[in-house]
Amino acid sequence: MFILLLGAPGSGKGTQGKILAERLNLPKITTGDLLRAAVKEGTPLGREAKRYMDDGKLVPDTVILSLIKEELAKPEANQGAVLDGFPRTAPQAELVDRTLGERGQRLNHILLLDVPEEELVRRMMGRAAQEGRSDDTPEAIKTRLQVYQRDTAPLIAHYSQRGIVRRVPGSGTIDDIATEIKRIIGR
Ligand code: ADP
Repeated sequence: MFILLLGAPGSGKGTQGKILAERLNLPKITTGDLLRAAVKEGTPLGREAKRYMDDGKLVPDTVILSLIKEELAKPEANQGAVLDGFPRTAPQAELVDRTLGERGQRLNHILLLDVPEEELVRRMMGRAAQEGRSDDTPEAIKTRLQVYQRDTAPLIAHYSQRGIVRRVPGSGTIDDIATEIKRIIGR
């Protein structure tokens, strides 16, 4: 089973994805974590990605598409995965659809975590104070929200046509949201 978590930055994709992946015993693929690890290690990918991440911009698809390909090709993602943080652009969505399609698979569920913008900003500013993520500055947060609206929100319409998008109100407690997701997935 392949499940995609879609939602603005700060909407709780990482938190809910972790709970979901553990419950269903699926690997979670998180492009943001993979990129942050590459930045930390100072690999060529990390050095390239950092230039965009700190500003809140998307890392170019020329870089991301091969990363996604590599992750989906791993044996642990053979039978399913929770996708967190990608696809985030139309070309990324096409790659995911095509790669799964070639294997006779598809995205089974798309969960859209829906959180009002004031709440998103409040959460990211709170996280900035705690974790010191280099892209949780006010300017980068503003850019990330704009980029989400421009590049990623259109994917909702793309996938809605297939009838697999479910909107999850994302402002409740972590437990409430996890319970709602469990209800939607049916397990
Ligand atoms: P958030 O959802 O809070 O923005 P992420 O950890 O998903 O956090 O992403 C952090 C940054 O990593 C993004 O702003 C972007 O620069 C980069 N990134 C992560 N995933 C992708 C992706 N699929 N395509 C392009 N850039 C990405």
